[in-house]
Amino acid sequence: MSLRQLPDFVSESESSEGDENSYPETFHKKFTRQTYSQHLIFSSKLEATSFVKAEKIWTQRTTDRRGDNGTRIYYDCKMQRSCPCKLYLCLDPSSQNVSLFLTESEHNHAEKVVGLSEVMKTEVRNVFDLGIRTPHMILKALAEKQLDLPEKTKLCNFLKTLRLSKGDS
Ligand SMILES: [Zn+2]
Repeated sequence: MSLRQLPDFVSESESSEGDENSYPETFHKKFTRQTYSQHLIFSSKLEATSFVKAEKIWTQRTTDRRGDNGTRIYYDCKMQRSCPCKLYLCLDPSSQNVSLFLTESEHNHAEKVVGLSEVMKTEVRNVFDLGIRTPHMILKALAEKQLDLPEKTKLCNFLKTLRLSKGDS
């Protein structure tokens, strides 16, 4: 049934969310697939974490305690979790040194669709102006036009602003 079709623009980060949440098993496999190389060495954990913090593009993800092999603190790109650019700090328990490892991948931020596309907004506005006001009926009208259907929450958000701008709330 066409009304249940998923929109085409599910962003990369949303669709990969699921498998990342199923760690530890798949999580660590995911990391070993990445190629990390050592970039910097710090003389303390504070120095290392301050450096990472100052870069302002990393968000701490998880800490992996490996006993004698040290502790690893993993960071993801703040822009998007699915971005292949990641780093981890490796805390050496014997020397207090902290090594920073960085993936060799470039940043890759798949375009994130925040709300409806401009094209979709126009379509919704047209339908709305015909007097079709409920999300359900609007989706039906859009489906009849053979358009990729928007997510209902996004549609509802847009309808709210549309109703406000038309002065009937
Ligand atoms: Zn990135």
